[in-house]
Amino acid sequence: MITRDEVHRILKEYDPNSLAIGTLGSHSSLNIFKGAKEEGFKTVSICKKDDAIIYKKFPVADEILIVEDFSELLNESLQRKLRKLNTVLVPHGSFTAYLSTEQMTNSLYVPMFGNRELLHWEAGRERQREWLLKAGLRLPKTFDRPEEIKGLVIAKLPGAKGGRGYFLADSSESFHKKTNEMVRRGLLNKRDVSNIHLQEYILGVNVYPHYFSSIVRDEVEFLGVDRRYESAVDAIGRIPADVQLDMEISPTYTIVGNIPITLRESLLPELIRMGDAVMKTAKELAAPGIIGPFCLETIITDNLEIYAFEISARIVAGTNVGIGTSPYAYLKYGENMYAGKRIALEIREAHEQDRLTEIFM
Ligand code: AMP
Ligand code: AMP
Repeated sequence: MITRDEVHRILKEYDPNSLAIGTLGSHSSLNIFKGAKEEGFKTVSICKKDDAIIYKKFPVADEILIVEDFSELLNESLQRKLRKLNTVLVPHGSFTAYLSTEQMTNSLYVPMFGNRELLHWEAGRERQREWLLKAGLRLPKTFDRPEEIKGLVIAKLPGAKGGRGYFLADSSESFHKKTNEMVRRGLLNKRDVSNIHLQEYILGVNVYPHYFSSIVRDEVEFLGVDRRYESAVDAIGRIPADVQLDMEISPTYTIVGNIPITLRESLLPELIRMGDAVMKTAKELAAPGIIGPFCLETIITDNLEIYAFEISARIVAGTNVGIGTSPYAYLKYGENMYAGKRIALEIREAHEQDRLTEIFM
């Protein structure tokens, strides 16, 4: 694992007055780059050739480094280029989707905004669960074996991204029937069946609150909320139930976009306490805790119970709904504050107070 000292030695070689903010050209890069430019930073996109078109339409990337594959971020030559440009990286969902936790903690010799040690707590379902439970959050029940299934469960395949391959079951019989069918169709490896994570299905609506943990200001801010727009699950309701039965469709959850939400105000106190508690626990698990944006994935039931089923300890693409502003960012900052800009503001303030080593690890 790359130590903090090593990262800080790299940072020392940088000219702190001309830092560039870099990230992979995908996910929330426009959000990050726009915010960086508004706070006076240069920007560097590590981008696939066919995707560079977005920076023609939206001119927020000063440097574009073309790669064939995002895993090239691990190449020494690319890292040398990034360091030469004084680049600090802001990680987002494509980092964890295309690189492993080990690669990010062991092979990325470029200062990264955030706490690399927390990546281990975030990566595994078990450890994440431990973290959220320790913070006192309400979580869906889990079942160790299909025989224990009671009620409706959502079955999550190991390493499934964006809900692809999730399915629902309501008994060990329906679980085995579905897994046998998936194995038969080549959608599932037989040896993965025992690694499927069985979680109580919570009937409710998805709510993803966005937080920002500021190390410089020692505060957790509440900056916005979104919900996801997922194919095919958000389409199923458009088909009459009798037709659905004939089609035997299972819901899939491929993310297509995000929709902003403003919440019933009486839900805010608990969501705010949840964010504070998650940060406080993170501090105990891996000091200084979360650096910068994070998001809880929650489901809220009809008696207004809030279940958390996941945490992302970095910027989420759902914050893209707030580029410009969101009602909650507005309440705190007035016009023009959003995740990408808030990150850049944190970096600027840390620089002004000579505290850059507290936010880059
Ligand atoms: P991409 O770079 O688009 O392949 O996305 C990388 C990862 O981030 C994938 O796991 C996606 O499921 C996730 N992701 C991308 N866009 C969004 C979004 N708008 N909301 C939530 N997750 C997303
Ligand atoms: P994820 O890949 O964890 O982001 O989840 C994909 C989709 O599955 C999201 O729309 C979630 O709302 C849904 N989901 C995940 N866990 C549960 C659960 N325990 N109960 C109901 N829906 C869930």
